[in-house]
Amino acid sequence: MSLDNAKILEKDQLEGFLEGLLKDNIVFGPTSKGDLLLFDRVESANGISLGRGNTMNSAKDVLFPQTERLFAYRHGEAGVEIDGPSAVKKGFILFGVRPCDARGLILLDKVFGEPLQDPYYGEKRARTVIISMACETPDPKCFCLAIGGGPCSAEGSDLLFLDLGDQYLVKAGSPKGMDLLKNTVFKKANKEVLARADVVEKEAEESMNQAGMGRVGIGETIEKRLEALFNDPIWDDITESCLGCGICTYLCPTCHCFDILDEAGQSAGERIRIWDSCQFPLFTHQASGVNPRPSVKERFRQRIMHKLCYLPQNGNLPGCVGCGRCVTECPVNLDIREVIQKISAREAE
Ligand code: SF4
Ligand code: SF4
Repeated sequence: MSLDNAKILEKDQLEGFLEGLLKDNIVFGPTSKGDLLLFDRVESANGISLGRGNTMNSAKDVLFPQTERLFAYRHGEAGVEIDGPSAVKKGFILFGVRPCDARGLILLDKVFGEPLQDPYYGEKRARTVIISMACETPDPKCFCLAIGGGPCSAEGSDLLFLDLGDQYLVKAGSPKGMDLLKNTVFKKANKEVLARADVVEKEAEESMNQAGMGRVGIGETIEKRLEALFNDPIWDDITESCLGCGICTYLCPTCHCFDILDEAGQSAGERIRIWDSCQFPLFTHQASGVNPRPSVKERFRQRIMHKLCYLPQNGNLPGCVGCGRCVTECPVNLDIREVIQKISAREAE
């Protein structure tokens, strides 16, 4: 860590900093809705809930919403009139994003930006600033370290806040972040503060390792094992309890499959994009009636293969950033960490 890209924010200055952002931007962050902690739009600084772990949904929902109107049309007197996306041009601030979710957005940037630019995602992304909050006390279900990330990693963030008690160390991870650090609310850091931050980071990583969530064998090895085990009966065992509900894909910060629907009326209509899920039978149901993934076994296997084999092989990040949401929210406790361990152990036999 260097003093060139890190500053201090006293905690009692956070509210003022956020209110300043709210004046010119649309701000999203962790916000309490009853018992739930959701990543959603906030109207004031005190609408942000910090210190409750990660949100049930991720920041993905802002840039790639569950339902998005692409355009509407109507037959008018002058012919067909088209209404494009709404012309909101304010900046988006994604505040309190966790490092795993910030890393997930790097994958989405690739999916929606290379080689073709998805204009709906790209337009929002260009005016987005990601301000992350490090996880000093990672949740026992998280495993970002195992998959190449880290609880205090600034990868994918414009700014990263690290809680040091009565102040935050704020690190810039991009030119956008360096610009934000010019705000006079941030004060110079010093070597003593950086040393404290190093200790906090190490303790966070060690707490993950101590919980048995160290590196669980992700990387080239798991890619090759998955390829070799594509037709292995182990998938029958692994997927026996899967309900095919799709919760794991809907909550995942990296899942990005969608469908396009035309809602057409007699003289007007709209085209919308909605999330889809590889866990649903219709996802691969062909017009001929054939479904190449006819059961939950093939569908669950596809989810794992795509995340841990196909995406890395195609030069991308893994399609899993270890956020732990699918572990926490799967109604039958199908744990992706155990799947990885079973796959790893199978070839070792
Ligand atoms: S793994 Fe769990 S969350 Fe995912 S589809 Fe199966 S039952 Fe649903
Ligand atoms: S696969 Fe599960 S643990 Fe991995 S990023 Fe998606 S929701 Fe998180």
